[in-house]
Amino acid sequence: MAVTEFLSARRSCTTCPYCGVGCGVTVDKEERADTTAIKVSGDTQHPANFGKLCVKGAALGETLGERGRLLRPRLHGKECDWDSAMSYLADSFAQNIREYGPDSVAFYLSGQLLTEDYYVANKLMKGFIGSANIDTNSRLCMSSAVVGYKRAFGADAVPCCYGDLEHADLIILIGSNAAWTHPILFQRMQAGSAKLVVIDPRASATSEMADLHLAIIPGSDASLFNGLLNFLAQHNQLDHQYIQQHTQGFEDTLVAAQHWSLQQTALACGISTEKLQAFFQLFAETEKTISFYSQGINQSSSGSDKNNAIINCHLATGRIGKTGTGPFSITGQPNAMGGREVGGLANMLAAHMEFDMDAIDRVGRFWCAPQVALTPGLKAVDMFRAVESGQIKAIWIMATNPAVSMPEADRVAEALRKCRLVVVSDCIADTDTARCADVLLPATSWGEKNGTVTNAERRISRQRPFQEPSGEARHDWQAICDLAGRLGFEDQFSYSHPADIFREHAQLSGFENNGSRAFDISLFGNIQRSDYDKLQPVQWPVNTANPNGSARLFGDGRFFTESGRANFIPITPRSPQQQINKAYPLWLNSGRIRDQWHTMTRTGRSRKLLDHSEIAEVQINPRDAREYGVDEGALVELRSAQGRMCGRAALNAAQKHGELFAPIHWSQTLAQESKVSALTEAVVDPLSGQPEFKQVPVQLQPLECHSYATLICPDPVAKSLWQWLQTHNDSNLLHWYRVPCDGGYRFELALCHPLDGRKLGAMLLQDIPDIHWQQVETLKSQRWLAYNDEFQLLIIANNDWHNLPDRRTLERYLQLDMPQIPAQLLHPIPAGVRMVCTCMQISRPQIEQAIGNGIHSVEALGHALGCGTRCGSCKPEISALIRTARESGVSGQAVAATMETEVVKSAKNKHKELKENYAAGA
Ligand code: SF4
Repeated sequence: MAVTEFLSARRSCTTCPYCGVGCGVTVDKEERADTTAIKVSGDTQHPANFGKLCVKGAALGETLGERGRLLRPRLHGKECDWDSAMSYLADSFAQNIREYGPDSVAFYLSGQLLTEDYYVANKLMKGFIGSANIDTNSRLCMSSAVVGYKRAFGADAVPCCYGDLEHADLIILIGSNAAWTHPILFQRMQAGSAKLVVIDPRASATSEMADLHLAIIPGSDASLFNGLLNFLAQHNQLDHQYIQQHTQGFEDTLVAAQHWSLQQTALACGISTEKLQAFFQLFAETEKTISFYSQGINQSSSGSDKNNAIINCHLATGRIGKTGTGPFSITGQPNAMGGREVGGLANMLAAHMEFDMDAIDRVGRFWCAPQVALTPGLKAVDMFRAVESGQIKAIWIMATNPAVSMPEADRVAEALRKCRLVVVSDCIADTDTARCADVLLPATSWGEKNGTVTNAERRISRQRPFQEPSGEARHDWQAICDLAGRLGFEDQFSYSHPADIFREHAQLSGFENNGSRAFDISLFGNIQRSDYDKLQPVQWPVNTANPNGSARLFGDGRFFTESGRANFIPITPRSPQQQINKAYPLWLNSGRIRDQWHTMTRTGRSRKLLDHSEIAEVQINPRDAREYGVDEGALVELRSAQGRMCGRAALNAAQKHGELFAPIHWSQTLAQESKVSALTEAVVDPLSGQPEFKQVPVQLQPLECHSYATLICPDPVAKSLWQWLQTHNDSNLLHWYRVPCDGGYRFELALCHPLDGRKLGAMLLQDIPDIHWQQVETLKSQRWLAYNDEFQLLIIANNDWHNLPDRRTLERYLQLDMPQIPAQLLHPIPAGVRMVCTCMQISRPQIEQAIGNGIHSVEALGHALGCGTRCGSCKPEISALIRTARESGVSGQAVAATMETEVVKSAKNKHKELKENYAAGA
């Protein structure tokens, strides 16, 4: 099918661009008078999700459109044509390579790229420029899992499939908040009958639904799995036949684990021996066991060892390659696996080949490449250090935002600002990293891209386009091939369609393979475009032996090591390299939240997705809050030896004493100093190079805010306000963040002193003629409205954050007809509420009231209110609300009466108070 046919089709099947679950998405288009309506739903035929989508996937339609998109290339901040931008880029790359050698340049890629983009970037850098300085943001999320698999199996190969989650009798989630980060998989787990054990220092939405939660000391996972191996040996629960026939290195591994008695392990993990024994016993007696692990394991200075400590227990019990069993590392990004396949990591060559002489020769012959890199390149942290030192003089960053996501993020941004040439390809015009760019290249986005991705279960799926590229956006593979041509390699990069790239990638996977490499999709080595377009989701390997793909690996007990046996790896657990101390006495953990993705360049465009949490919230145990003088909702500052971030305090009794949690999503373009990575020291796992994000020692303190303001304005005024906030150095301004809404933006300001709204407004609106002002003063707030023929600006200032009114109500000013607006200012505005179910827009007070009325199950609440009935991501939160009500000791109608009375009382009071104030103010 030609691309134009895709674009004209009324229905397209593609995949979600967010997480590694890789859900299939159906897009239906309906032509209307002046627009095309896009409806997004789950693809019922896709084997990853069978029609379900989480709230992020369901909101994909809201993230489309040209608002905020980068539409034309820019050279040193000025728009230019593609030819000028690419000439500059190519000349600069060529000059640096000539003067300083191939290692003076680098590519930094992303798990958001499609496999075809990744393949040509890797081929150009490693085969033709002659350097292996190509790494990816996947280094930050799963490179320790790669090391774990390669050490154990001789291949970076996930043994399990999603179907195993439904067949397992026991699922152990380690360092994973899957209910929020991989919601569709979590629902598949719940659809089965497996017992759930969560191993995580933090109580989370996932642990809320668990049968057993082991809240271990941060970083003590390897001790726990060494203890488990020792327990299995002591209780005669090993599969000696499997160990003998299919593995090697068991004796040494058991010796390393023997120190870990039940008591010793419980002590190291900070949990009771009873709880630990209960878990060990459960593992010992449950044949069908899946260990499901993610960033809590990988983002550690000993992440590789933690991976192998888990895998050791599966090898020792022979629980691998069989239905419902296996060590299952879950990728964070949609195409982290695809990047691993092509060689997108600096320490892999291509198609799962290493930098040995045979592989270098083989790949060189296949590519007809003149100078294949001979040694691994710089991994992400080292790459940006090399940018800082000037060793790397030109870097091309694609589809990622390292100025936000790398550890020591501010230092990375500074290094980029000083670098001789920074090229950034992105679909978004303004990101923290784009601000450091000399050359900005507009890239196609989801809905425009055309290619393949591989999800966490090795399943290759198509991302298909359903709309034209915005502005002058091009596919990343096209931009890379353009550079290759300008560097003199046109013949080897003369692809005209992603199918041509995929075909070559498939051929390389099978080239001189003969069963020696796990990654083999050689059955697609002659794929035609029409078949590529129709490609159905399939799990690799896909070759003559496995023409329909392979759900599971290693069922025959044969591995990709030289001996064909799996390796046990002896583990000596190590504590986190970063340790709390007197100056930085609290542990900071970080991660994703339910409704956002990465640095919010896409999810941050959906207003609905911000309903659950619109500011970086720092989760704090109430005891810590008391100790540090922090109130609920207060603005707080976290400091580490590396940097600073601000967020709003969310008191949470489930958060452990002495430990904090903050989300990873907010950047400088969305909020002032809310980047959690600015706090993280760039210490890494010595084998994988993956940074230790999960255990950061910090100090906490409240910020003295005496005034808050909410500003609503249409796009042009929002632009002035935003520019002012970015450049203004006013000591009165403590913090700001912004929220996009239909037709404009809302800004939230925290200040030291009361705001003079008239003064600020006059400054922002100085170029806009005939402005009228209206001002209303109430007991607790001041309101300023500025308008001419159109609504221009609304400012509500308040001295207590809790008293700020419902933001949705305020945002409606952007939709009102002008004559209605001044009168609206006099109306009472209800108090704000937190949305729990984003899909169905059901708030926390509504759910609490229903619980109070005697509805005590998630299902019944769904029946009554609709909450949790769409994507299901909010079910753990609803369950927590039910539990809290139950634990409060007041039940049934008593709870109902109490809660209802309070809700009604507070609403009535507020209404009365506002009425009086308006009367006085008006
Ligand atoms: Fe997308 Fe959600 Fe599926 Fe992940 S779980 S792929 S974010 S729809």
